[in-house]
Amino acid sequence: MTDSLAQHLQCIDCGAVHPLGYRLECDKCQGLLELRYDLAVLRGRGPGALTGHGLWRYAPVLPIVDPAHRVTLGEGATPLLEAPRLARSLGVRRLALKYEGSNPTGTVKDRSSATGVAAALQFGFKATSVVSSGNAGSSIAAYSARAGLRSLIFAYERASAPKLLHMAATTEDLVLYRGVYDDLITHWDRLVESRLFFDCGASRNAYKHEGKKTIAWEIAEQTGWAPPDVVVAPVAVGETFIAAARGFRELHEAGFIPSAPTMIAAQATRANAIARAFRTGAPIRPLKIGYTVAEGLAAGNPGRKGDWVLRLLREGRGAAGDAEDDEILAAQRTLARTEGVWAGPTGVATLAVLTKLLAAREVDPAQSFCVIISETGLKTEASPPSREATAFDLDSLRRLVEDRLARA
Ligand SMILES: [Zn+2]
Repeated sequence: MTDSLAQHLQCIDCGAVHPLGYRLECDKCQGLLELRYDLAVLRGRGPGALTGHGLWRYAPVLPIVDPAHRVTLGEGATPLLEAPRLARSLGVRRLALKYEGSNPTGTVKDRSSATGVAAALQFGFKATSVVSSGNAGSSIAAYSARAGLRSLIFAYERASAPKLLHMAATTEDLVLYRGVYDDLITHWDRLVESRLFFDCGASRNAYKHEGKKTIAWEIAEQTGWAPPDVVVAPVAVGETFIAAARGFRELHEAGFIPSAPTMIAAQATRANAIARAFRTGAPIRPLKIGYTVAEGLAAGNPGRKGDWVLRLLREGRGAAGDAEDDEILAAQRTLARTEGVWAGPTGVATLAVLTKLLAAREVDPAQSFCVIISETGLKTEASPPSREATAFDLDSLRRLVEDRLARA
């Protein structure tokens, strides 16, 4: 079965139901909308209802009706890696890494780009647009190119060179912006109303958001429908976190898993509006932020999705934390050296936050954990390590090898 089981859009605030269509907020209260599905059908058919490989394996719980619109570059089906050495060094019973760097453009964002661009086709748009710190821009541009759509990409002027190169390669319409994401996104969100382009931003579009939900479906299926006790997700605006939490809720409602994991929200300390509000119990107060190495987490004003993250954290008895740049870079080195996984700083903030929460005894190490590593390290800008080069003969080569291997 590959039919979409999407039934309608529902307001997360007032519960009002809206027919499926390109609609970004509730008619009655301007609340955010989420897609709802006929999960009773899945409950009846069980996992056998899922067919094919990668993200579109989960088409029954995605909102794209016509298979011809389901654009793909081979996203999803990313590895869930057991990390026994890292688990031992953190002192936890069990740890798995959901490594999203193996997606086509090296980031979890390919999941939402797939459903976002597919929805643009579904609703007859000729162009997409997004405001990006780097990853979303190259991902939306790549998927738009694949679908034959134009993409107008607004990228942060300090985005890493590999990300800028990737965006410039995949779209003719790359525009650099000065200042911070939060300032431009306010204007851009207003322009969305004119319908000049399809909204591929992270603030409101339920169709685009939806693709990221498949990360929860994959984690559940890869663990034999028995997901870990705790899942740690990165939070900038909250898209990955909310999508994963919704995915686990659906899996539970469809009877595929016995219970939904507890979710932990991981932020960069320099953009920690949600973690701060969670700790103090106060409403979210937008922050004026500066640069963080975790550039994909640099959102000081998470908007209404921030409130949604807080609500899910409180309902699910979850936790939130944040990590400083030096802690994120330390986690990046540890992950590469202990498990061979090279992730960018944005992708590894989750591990840095879990490390801190464990050290502070805010989470129970007897649980099983899954950490979402959201991006590859190969798009990070960094100067190569400086090394002196040597011209070897056989004797000097042998001495060096013996010397290196004798080191502890
Ligand atoms: Zn409403």
